[in-house]
Amino acid sequence: MADRVYNFSPGPATLPVEVLEKAGKDVVNFQQTGIGLIEISHRSKEFMAVADEAEANLRDLMQIPDNYKVLFLQGGASSQFFMIPMNLLGKDKKATYLNTGTWAKKAIKEAKLFGDIDVAYSSEEASFNRVPADNEYTVAGNSEYLYYVSNNTIYGTQFPNVPATEKMLISDMSSDILSRSVDVSKYGMIFAGAQKNLGPAGVTLVIIREDLLENTPAQTPTMLSYKTHADKGSMFNTPPCFAIYVVGEVLKWLKKQGGVEAIEKINAEKAGLLYGAIDSTDYYRGHAEKESRSLMNISFNLPSPELEAKFIAEAAAVELNGLKGHRSIGGCRASIYNAFPREGVVKLVDFMKEFESNNPAS
Ligand SMILES: *Cc1c(COP(=O)(O)O)cnc(C)c1O
Repeated sequence: MADRVYNFSPGPATLPVEVLEKAGKDVVNFQQTGIGLIEISHRSKEFMAVADEAEANLRDLMQIPDNYKVLFLQGGASSQFFMIPMNLLGKDKKATYLNTGTWAKKAIKEAKLFGDIDVAYSSEEASFNRVPADNEYTVAGNSEYLYYVSNNTIYGTQFPNVPATEKMLISDMSSDILSRSVDVSKYGMIFAGAQKNLGPAGVTLVIIREDLLENTPAQTPTMLSYKTHADKGSMFNTPPCFAIYVVGEVLKWLKKQGGVEAIEKINAEKAGLLYGAIDSTDYYRGHAEKESRSLMNISFNLPSPELEAKFIAEAAAVELNGLKGHRSIGGCRASIYNAFPREGVVKLVDFMKEFESNNPAS
């Protein structure tokens, strides 16, 4: 096996190496059963224990109140873009959305198929370089919920606080779940695709307040109703067993690191190192406005697209991989989720200084 490089990929993203090594063994022979992890029945006592433990650890790490259900679904975070309005728009079929990037925009498009959607804020004209302050949007009075994307993976912006509203909050936390403390009781629902900060692609985590399960219209297809999955403990049909197992191992790893509060401090420190490097020179320019900066995805530019291409190639040659920005804004992006090691950030900062002195802006 090649030595591991520092992988700044936005998702699927780097996972703790100890988790990968254990998963490799369990795939062949799970807990001395003589059966591999991905061959064993999802209704076996061994797998049921895996799913139960993953849920219990998640509840513990996020302090999820008892009146919330935890679901492990398939279809990616993108399927939540339509499941949410299908299930939760209520009688008036109205909701408010904040348009802070590609993922918000896609969710708005789907929601419009089901109801009257008010887009109360958009930073699209400024290429999504910020998220709104509380006084920059008004939530329509008859809205069932306010929807926002907590961390905008592509643009590198993040809501520093929970947006103010008297309405129910629904949040896409795909790229910052478990990176900082969240008061779950403020939300009707939180969801996250696993492949950014939780585990491999294939499972989407949904945390939903129990009373909302009754709001689903009767004609909703069985598989697309939250209640179906809640009533059957995410085992209405075959769940994504492998992905749930890896998420469970990542949660155990996170507990060993000291839990959410501990990782939150580490994340702030890691991001601080990179933003410090960006702010110390005009050579690098951060895409996000300072008040909206993400601690997970740091998007930045160099003086020219040519220098950016050279930067990305030379970084990869010294094992700093995956720094190319998203095609919609170009430039560079360093994704430094929970499992991304601090040493990799330090190495990138050193590389940035060296690159700048070797490649002066013309
Ligand atoms: C990656 C991402 C998605 C899409 O996730 P899929 O699982 O690929 O559908 C949605 N929202 C955010 C914030 C993301 O970062």
